[in-house]
Amino acid sequence: MNVPMLDLAAEYRDLEAELADAVGKVIASGRFILGPEGEALEHEVAAYLGVGHAVAVASGTDALHLALRAAGIGPRDEVVMPSFTFVAAAEAVCHVGARVVFADIDPATYNLDPAACEAAIGPATRAVIAVHLFGQTADLAAISAICQRRGLTLIEDCAQAIGADFDGRRAGAWGALGCFSFYPTKNLGAYGDAGMVVTNDPKLAEVVRMLRHHGSRTAYRHEMIGYNSRLDELQAAILRVKLKRLDRWNAQRRERAGLYRRLLSGGPVGLPVEHGRGAHVYHQFTVRAPRRDALREELAARGVASAVYYPVPVHRQPAYALDHGGLSLRESERAAQEALSLPMYPQLAESAVRGVCDALREAAASRELLRRKS
Ligand SMILES: *Cc1c(COP(=O)(O)O)cnc(C)c1O
Repeated sequence: MNVPMLDLAAEYRDLEAELADAVGKVIASGRFILGPEGEALEHEVAAYLGVGHAVAVASGTDALHLALRAAGIGPRDEVVMPSFTFVAAAEAVCHVGARVVFADIDPATYNLDPAACEAAIGPATRAVIAVHLFGQTADLAAISAICQRRGLTLIEDCAQAIGADFDGRRAGAWGALGCFSFYPTKNLGAYGDAGMVVTNDPKLAEVVRMLRHHGSRTAYRHEMIGYNSRLDELQAAILRVKLKRLDRWNAQRRERAGLYRRLLSGGPVGLPVEHGRGAHVYHQFTVRAPRRDALREELAARGVASAVYYPVPVHRQPAYALDHGGLSLRESERAAQEALSLPMYPQLAESAVRGVCDALREAAASRELLRRKS
C-alpha cells in the first residue's frame, strides 16, 4: 500500500484541458499583473463567500499582514491569537509592530477557546485573530460577541477553511477582515503562492487594494507606504477553474471524513470533533494519539503517509520563545504532541481510506508501538 497525504497530480488530470486553455489565454493576452482574471476571481470569491469585497494578494501571509495594516494595528497594540497554528499570523502581527498575545485552544476543536481569548484581552488589545484550523471555524458567535463587547477588530485566518461556515455564514464573512491562502495544498490551491483579503467594508477593501500595489490607486501617486503584493493573472485564471469545483471537492472531503469516522470509531485514536454549527471542510483529518510519533513511524512502515501539524506551538518556537517561552498553554502544548493528520484529499479512494484505517489499527496494536514510550 502507498497512500500519500494528498495527490495534486490526480486533481490536475481531471482539469488538464481546462487549465491549459485558461493559462494559454492569459499568456496570449500579454497581461500578467492586475487584469481581468484577478478582477473576475475577486468577484467570484466575494459572491461565493457572501461578502461585499475581495482583494487578491500574493499570499495568505500577505493577506494577514495587509489586513492588520488596513485595520490600523501598529506599535503599542496587542493582538490576541492562538499559538497552535501556522506561524504566519504571528509574523504578520510582529511585522506591523504590534505585540502578539497567545491564548489557549479548545482541545475538542483545536481552535481559539473563547474564554481564554477573553482572559488574554488587556488595555492595549486592539484585535483578535481567529484561526479556523484544519477546516473548521472557531466559535465565531462567541468570539465575535467578545470583539463587539470589547471594541476589538476581528480578523479571521481562513487559510484552511474556505467554504466552511458557522451558523450559515461562511468563514471570512464574520470578521472585519477575512484572510485566505491559496497555497497549492489548501482546499482551493493555486500553482504557486496566492491569497485574498475579504471584507464588507468598502474603505478597508480600498486600503488593502492600495497597500498591495505600492500604496497607490492612480499610477505613480503613492498615498501610503505599501508593498508589492499582487496576485498574478496566471494564478487567478487557475484559481477560477478550480473555484467552480470547490463545493464538490469539499463535499468529497466530508465524505472521506465520514468514512474515516465510521471505520475508526471505538478505535485507537481520538477522532476530530465537529462543533455542529456549520460545515467542516476537512482541510485535514486530524486524530489524537498519545504515542503519536511512534504511531507515525509504524504507519510509514505500512506505506501510509501522515503529517504533524504542528509539532511546536508558536510560543515555543525559537524566534518567539524569547518573549513568550515562559508562557504555558496546556492544550496547545498537548495538541502539538498528540495531533496527527491522516491522508485527506477529494480524490482519495474509498479503498485507500479503508487501507489507512486497517494500517492504523494494526500499527496501534503492534509490538513495536507498545514497546515504545513516546
Ligand atoms: C497556509 C496558512 C497561512 C499562510 O498562507 P501562505 O499562503 O502560505 O502565506 C496562514 N495561516 C494558516 C492557518 C495557514 O494554514
